[in-house]
Amino acid sequence: MRMELRVCKHCHEGEHGNPDKTAVTRDMVTCAETVREYKDLIGIDAIYITKVAEGDAGGAEALPVVVASIAGDEIQLSDTQLVMEDDDGNMLVYPEPADVLEVLTRNVQQANTHTNNDVSVELSEESLSLGVGT
Ligand SMILES: [Zn+2]
Repeated sequence: MRMELRVCKHCHEGEHGNPDKTAVTRDMVTCAETVREYKDLIGIDAIYITKVAEGDAGGAEALPVVVASIAGDEIQLSDTQLVMEDDDGNMLVYPEPADVLEVLTRNVQQANTHTNNDVSVELSEESLSLGVGT
C-alpha cells in the first residue's frame, strides 16, 4: 500500500492567516512523518508528503488524484487530502481533515503496537476539536 498526504504549503508554514488550519496541517504532517518512520512495521510501501504551493495546480503528486468541487461556477481543487493506493491499484481519497487525521493517527497507533518505542503524536486542540481519536 502507498499513501500520499497533500497539504497547503502556506498553511503549513502559517502564511495563510488561518491558525486553525495551520495547527491541523502541522499535525497531519507530523503524523505522516511518524508513520513514515515506522512504515515497514505496518505494511506500508511508501508514504509521500506533498506540500503544494500557491499557483501549483498539481502534477507533483506521487499519486495523481486531486479532489475537486464546484463552488458557484468555479472549480476548486482541494489543497488537503490523503490518498491511499492498495495493492490492487485502487485509490481511496480522503478530503476531510478529520478523516485524514483519523486515518493517520490510526496508523500511528498501529505502529505503536509493533515496537517497544513509544510512538505517539500529541495532537493540537484544533485537531482534537475535530473529534479525532474519540
Ligand atoms: Zn493554505
